[in-house]
Amino acid sequence: MKGIIFNINRFAVHDGPGIRTTVFMKGCPLRCFWCHNPESWSSGVQTFQRKNTLDGIEYCEDELIGREMSVVDLMKAVEKERLVMEESGGGVTFSGGEPLLQASFLREALISCRSAGLHTAVDTSGYAETQVLESITDFTSLFLFDLKIMDEELHQVYTGVSNRQILENLKWLAGQDKPVIIRVPLIDKISATERNLSEMVRFLSGLEKPVERIDLLPFHRLGKSKFRRLNLQGTAGQDISAPDGDRLNEILVYFRREGFNAHLS
Ligand code: SF4
Repeated sequence: MKGIIFNINRFAVHDGPGIRTTVFMKGCPLRCFWCHNPESWSSGVQTFQRKNTLDGIEYCEDELIGREMSVVDLMKAVEKERLVMEESGGGVTFSGGEPLLQASFLREALISCRSAGLHTAVDTSGYAETQVLESITDFTSLFLFDLKIMDEELHQVYTGVSNRQILENLKWLAGQDKPVIIRVPLIDKISATERNLSEMVRFLSGLEKPVERIDLLPFHRLGKSKFRRLNLQGTAGQDISAPDGDRLNEILVYFRREGFNAHLS
C-alpha cells in the first residue's frame, strides 16, 4: 500500500512531546482561511512551476509536491532519527493536510511505528467519519485535535465545511482512553472572539474526560507566498492577522482561569 506524503520534517518540537519526525500527508477536505499548508489541499501529486533567476535571466523549473511512499519506505525514513526520538521522549506525528483522508495507509503506518516501539501522534482537523477515527485510535498514542470555530455557520464560511462531525468526533474521542491535545488557531475577529472562545470553553468543559492541554496558536503569515506560487484562491494573503500581544495574554489567562492546561505557542 502507498500513501502520498508531501514532506517529512525531522527534529520537530511543536507537534507533540519531545523531538519528533512529522509526516505531512496530502489531501484536505477543509479550506481554512488561515491555512499555511495549501500545498496539502489536493490529494494527488502536483507539479508547479517555480520561477528562478540566474545571472539576471529568469527561468522556470518544475517542482513536484508530494510523492508516493510505501509504509516500508516511510519507516526507513523515520528510523533514521530513532535515537533522537527515543532520547527526547519524542516519536512520529502524522499531520497534513488531513491524515484521516488516507486512513488505510495511516493505519498501517501507525501499526508499523507501534511495532517498532515508537510513540505516535495524529494531528487532525477531526473531519472524518467516526469509524475512520475509530480505526486508528488503538494505534495512536496521542491526538492533536484542531478546534477552530464553534458556530456551525461561521465554521462553514471560514473552513468550507460544517463542524458538526468534528464536534461529534471530539466527544467520542474524549470517551476513549487516549490523551488529546486541543489546538486552537487564533485569528483576530474570526476565531479569537469572546463568543467563540466562551463557547469553546463550554464545549470542552462538558466532555466526558478533560483534555490533556490546549495549545493556542496565533495566526502567522507563512502560507502567504505558497498561495501565490500555487496559483490558489486563498485568504492567508488577505487582511487577517493574529490578535495583538495583550489580547493573546488575555486569552491564555482566560483558558487557565477556566481550569485548562493552556499554552501559547
Ligand atoms: S485543516 Fe489544516 S491543512 Fe486543512 S485547510 Fe485547514 S489549516 Fe489547512
